[in-house]
Amino acid sequence: MFWDRESEILARPLLERLQLGHLQETVRRVARRVPFYRQKFAEAGVKPEDIKSLDDVRRLPFTTGADLRAIYPNGLVAVEAHEAVRLHTSSGTTGKPKAVFFSRRDIRNSAELMARSLVMTGVTNKDVFQNMMSYGLFTGGLIMHYGAERVGCLVIPVGPGTSERQLMLMQDFGTTAVHILPSYALYFAGFLAQRGVNPRTDLTLRRAFVGAEPHTEETRRRIEQALGVDVYNSYGLTEMNGPGVAFECEHKAGLHLWEDHFLLEIIDPAAGEPLPEGQPGELVLTTLRREAMPLIRYRTRDITSIIPEPCLCGRTHHRLNRISGRTDDMLIVRGVNIFPQQVERILMSMPQVGPNYVIILDGLDDMAVKVELAAAGFDGDVEHLDTLRRQLVEKLKTELFVRPNVELVPAGSLPVAEGKAKRVIDRRSL
Ligand code: AMP
Ligand code: ZN
Repeated sequence: MFWDRESEILARPLLERLQLGHLQETVRRVARRVPFYRQKFAEAGVKPEDIKSLDDVRRLPFTTGADLRAIYPNGLVAVEAHEAVRLHTSSGTTGKPKAVFFSRRDIRNSAELMARSLVMTGVTNKDVFQNMMSYGLFTGGLIMHYGAERVGCLVIPVGPGTSERQLMLMQDFGTTAVHILPSYALYFAGFLAQRGVNPRTDLTLRRAFVGAEPHTEETRRRIEQALGVDVYNSYGLTEMNGPGVAFECEHKAGLHLWEDHFLLEIIDPAAGEPLPEGQPGELVLTTLRREAMPLIRYRTRDITSIIPEPCLCGRTHHRLNRISGRTDDMLIVRGVNIFPQQVERILMSMPQVGPNYVIILDGLDDMAVKVELAAAGFDGDVEHLDTLRRQLVEKLKTELFVRPNVELVPAGSLPVAEGKAKRVIDRRSL
């Protein structure tokens, strides 16, 4: 199903011509209106008229999260103050957040992209859409809300309420689609099991949209099994509107990035140079239609790769592979590079293991993984427990090249975050 068929299946040469026009316009606008970019362009010795092809984007300077933090509470705004109608800030783990401003048109465009994203998974105006993401400065609430409303769904803006309340609303209003953090989806499935609720027979859920935090294919499969739904990966970041940047279609085989709104590059994060199509690297995005706050070559720090083959759905917008980590997520343990997702993949492939885990780095360079057992994962036999623990250590060692300590803890004993899950505690720097 298509929301905006013409834009979604635009032939690549046309799409690229459209991108170039918008890129040139964006560069001209920020050079005129945003002192930060005027200065950066001067330092790089580049003028708007130098952008003659899409490849010329490489002549432009990068924008980083640090740039946005440095200018906070202002943003890199290209409109008059009264033309901005909405502020969102990034969740930022440390220090100042990043302020992102939206004009009326930006809000409309973000809702359009969200609508496209939902409709390509099969959502229609008959759906009852329960938005379990936080409303407020975080974009996961409002941006998704506007998109689902645009499609015509009945939207339940519950936000991250208690599981009890979520369940009550699902039952009372016949929820068919949810927007939910993957870590919370797993927790919620456990809650349903505890309550004796079988989602396949007792609820009307059909689809779950999960994003906002890294998760693995194994986690998707777990959520699908536990909730009896189709799970679609949703990627976005506050700096680029929030959700609706890249989304999976009905084939669930990579995320279509809406290239008529965002210019996509994959670069080598260390060298800053573009990588050949298909090779994993850092995703860099340039907004093509942003009015209030255009961003040039924004370093997302997210690691992914382009899937060069066309998708069966007929959309021409490139697909990205699942985000495999962030450049600043990488842990270096005993000289070895480790991404938390590698640990998650191993843990979630073991049915005896529950959904919640945490990686603890301590001492000189010791790595420990604390993980919950599945609710039905412990038969009371201590020997079985030890066998499972040893199996996990071996599997992790083979994957990571570092032998971590593994501690199995009872189901439900690790803290559950209200927002994005915190998977790493690094005490080494204390
Ligand atoms: P925020 O701006 O607070 O919404 O955070 C955006 C960041 O969340 C992105 O840069 C990614 O690191 C992460 N993120 C969002 N969606 C996904 C996803 N589907 N898979 C992995 N990471 C994601
Ligand atoms: Zn597709």
